[in-house]
Amino acid sequence: MIENDFLSTEEEIKLREEVKDFVRSVDPELLRKMDRNEIDYPFEFLHEAAKRNLLGLRFPEEYGGRGMTWSAEMVAMEEIGVLGMGLGCSYAMPSIVGEAIYRFGQEWQKEEFLKPVIKGEKLSAEGLTEPRGGSDFFGTTTKAEKKGKVWVLNGMKRFIAGGKVADFYLIYARTDPNAPGHKALTAFIVERDMGVEVEELYNLLGFRGMGTARIVFKDLEVPDEYRVGEVNGARVIFNRMMVPERLTSAAGAVGTARAALEVAIKYSTKRKAFGTQIRNFQGVNFKVAECMAKLDAARALVYTAARAADAADSGMPVDPRRVVSEAKYFATEVGWEVVNEAMQIMGGIGYTQVYPIERLLRDMRLAPIWTGSNEIMKLLIQHETYKMIGEAKKDRDIEKDAMDWYKEWEKVYE
Ligand SMILES: Cc1cc2nc3c(=O)[nH]c(=O)nc-3n(C[C@H](O)[C@H](O)[C@H](O)COP(=O)(O)OP(=O)(O)OC[C@H]3O[C@@H](n4cnc5c(N)ncnc54)[C@H](O)[C@@H]3O)c2cc1C
Repeated sequence: MIENDFLSTEEEIKLREEVKDFVRSVDPELLRKMDRNEIDYPFEFLHEAAKRNLLGLRFPEEYGGRGMTWSAEMVAMEEIGVLGMGLGCSYAMPSIVGEAIYRFGQEWQKEEFLKPVIKGEKLSAEGLTEPRGGSDFFGTTTKAEKKGKVWVLNGMKRFIAGGKVADFYLIYARTDPNAPGHKALTAFIVERDMGVEVEELYNLLGFRGMGTARIVFKDLEVPDEYRVGEVNGARVIFNRMMVPERLTSAAGAVGTARAALEVAIKYSTKRKAFGTQIRNFQGVNFKVAECMAKLDAARALVYTAARAADAADSGMPVDPRRVVSEAKYFATEVGWEVVNEAMQIMGGIGYTQVYPIERLLRDMRLAPIWTGSNEIMKLLIQHETYKMIGEAKKDRDIEKDAMDWYKEWEKVYE
C-alpha cells in the first residue's frame, strides 16, 4: 500500500508487483510454524522464491540471476520484509554469501555453490560472529592451519542463521597468528558434511524457525580449493559482503515496519473510542504522519545507498560503505520506532497474538543489533565523514561568512 513507486524505474515497478504476488502467496501458517519453532528452516519459501527466479536477482543470468541492479534487489527486499525478518533473512542470504563467491570465488565454486544457491538447491549460511564477539570482527579467533593441501579449522561461530541445516557456510578464520586482524583472516567455503558440529540452538525473542545455531569446528579439514580469495586477504571480501548484508537489513526493515504500520492504520479507521474512530484523534493520526515521514525518509536513504552501490559497480569512483551504513542504521532505528508506534495505536490488542504486530516487534528488535550493530554503523559513518571533511578542497570557506571571521585571536582551540 504505502511504497513510493516514483522512486523506481519501470523495471523495478514490474519487479515489485511480481514480488508482491509471491509475498501474497506465502501461507500464513508457515509464519506461525516458524514462530512456534516447529520447523528448522523455511525451505518451502526458499524453493518457491527460487522457482520464481527471485533469488540473487543481481547476479548475471549465467549463474541463475537476472543481472538486475542493487536498487531493484532492494525493491524486492522491501516487499519480502513484509513477511518479517526470518523470511527476509532467508531471502537475503543468497545475495550475501553469493556476493563473496561471485566476486572472489573460483569458477568451480560458482558452479558448485553460487548456482545451486540461486536455484534453491543448496542452503548457504555465513559464519562471522563468535562467542567472544561479533562487533570486533577482525579479532576472529577461529583458526585455520595449513597442513599439506588442507586447512585444519578449530573454533566456533555463534548465532548463525540457518546454522543447523545449511549445506555450506562461508567462514572467516585466522590464518596468520601474528599479523594484525585485517591482514590475518581468510575466507573458506565449509560444507556441513565436512564435519561441522551443531552444538546449540538459541531460544530467541523473535526471528524463530531459522535454525539459528552455534557451529563448531574441531580439527575440521577443508581442502585448499575451498578457500575463497587470497590467503590472509579476507578483509576485502568482508567489506564487500557487508554491502548486501547491510542493504538487505535496511530494506527489509522498511518492509517489516510498513507491514506493522498498515495493520495499525487500518485498525485506526475501524476502532472507536469516545464515540468516534480513533483515527480522528490527533494523538493517533499524528503518529501515523510521523511514521510515514520517517519511513519515507528511511526508504529514500535505502535507495540512495543502493544507487551508490550501483554507481560503484558501474565504475564510478564511489565507495558506498558510508551511505550503506547510514541506511542500515537509520532504517533499522526507524523500523523499530514505527513498529512500536504501530503497537501503541492498536492499544492492548496490539500486545496480543490476535494481530501480527507483536511478532513483527519481536522480529524488528533484532534489526539494530545484527549485521553490524548500529553502534558499529555509527563508528563507520563518523570515520568516513571525518575523512571526507579532511579531503574537501573545493568547498566554500564557510567560516568566512561570519561577521567577525577575521578575529583569529578569538579562535582558541586548546
Ligand atoms: C538472531 C540472530 C541472528 C544472527 N545471525 C548471524 C549470522 O547468520 N551470521 C553471523 O555471523 N552473525 C549473526 N548474528 C550475530 C550478530 O551479527 C551479532 O550479534 C552482532 O554483530 C553483535 O555482536 P555481539 O552479539 O557479539 O555483540 P558485541 O560485539 O559483544 O557488542 C555488544 C555491545 O557493545 C557494542 N559495541 C561493541 N563494540 C563497540 C564499539 N567499538 N563502539 C561502540 N559500541 C560497541 C555493540 O554495539 C553492542 O551494543 C546474529 C545474531 C542474532 C541475535
